[in-house]
Amino acid sequence: MPKVNCKLVSWDDVMKWCWELAEVIKGSGWMPDMIVAISRGGAVPARLLCDCLCVSDMMSIQVVHWPTAAEVSEKARVKYPLKLDLSGKKVLLVDDIADTGDSLILAKKTLEADCKPAEVRIATMQWISPVCKVKPDYYVDEVKEWIWYQYPWTRLEDIIDFTRRLFKEGGKESWSLEEIAEAFPEWYGLSYEDRWYRTAVEWLVRFGELEKVDGRYRATEKLR
Ligand code: ADP
Repeated sequence: MPKVNCKLVSWDDVMKWCWELAEVIKGSGWMPDMIVAISRGGAVPARLLCDCLCVSDMMSIQVVHWPTAAEVSEKARVKYPLKLDLSGKKVLLVDDIADTGDSLILAKKTLEADCKPAEVRIATMQWISPVCKVKPDYYVDEVKEWIWYQYPWTRLEDIIDFTRRLFKEGGKESWSLEEIAEAFPEWYGLSYEDRWYRTAVEWLVRFGELEKVDGRYRATEKLR
């Protein structure tokens, strides 16, 4: 059993899910005038839904997660608040996945308050029903057990994070690229072409979190 339950998502999966999502939306008899992506995770699905639903108006709202004062939990915030007149418009708010629901709830509330659209509905490809505080109006998969979807738009970002975790929790002083590649299936149930591990490690060196010594990588103070 891997330590983190992950699912590798391909571009074909994304295309298929967005197509299916568009079918569900069309089937409901409701059609949006505009699509708003929750940036950045919703950007690609939102663009594909524009295509599948023949919608030409799209914008995005960026939600970020900042640590609260105690730095125990993180609070969702809108990074660049925007006041626009969307009166009379039916808006479809799109994200890749509904997990905690915090970003969706905040984005919907902000849009309603700042842009006054006629209606906002939510669409996501996945909905993690046991933990999510909101049920999307439209979704493709109801996910009953929490899992990390390794979407293609966070391929490198996730591999960098997964590598950080190996260095923090893997109990080794130093790692070679081969050892990192070997650990991935065991830890995450995922494996990638070598160039991904090499690039992830290069970034971590650039960030000052790893250093290369005698062909092996070691965590610096910054990562420990
Ligand atoms: P949401 O309101 O979408 O549930 P969260 O605040 O829980 O938002 O998560 C923020 C973003 O982090 C999501 O929009 C998604 O891009 C990413 N994310 C969260 N959970 C997962 C997951 N289980 N798998 C992949 N990506 C995730």
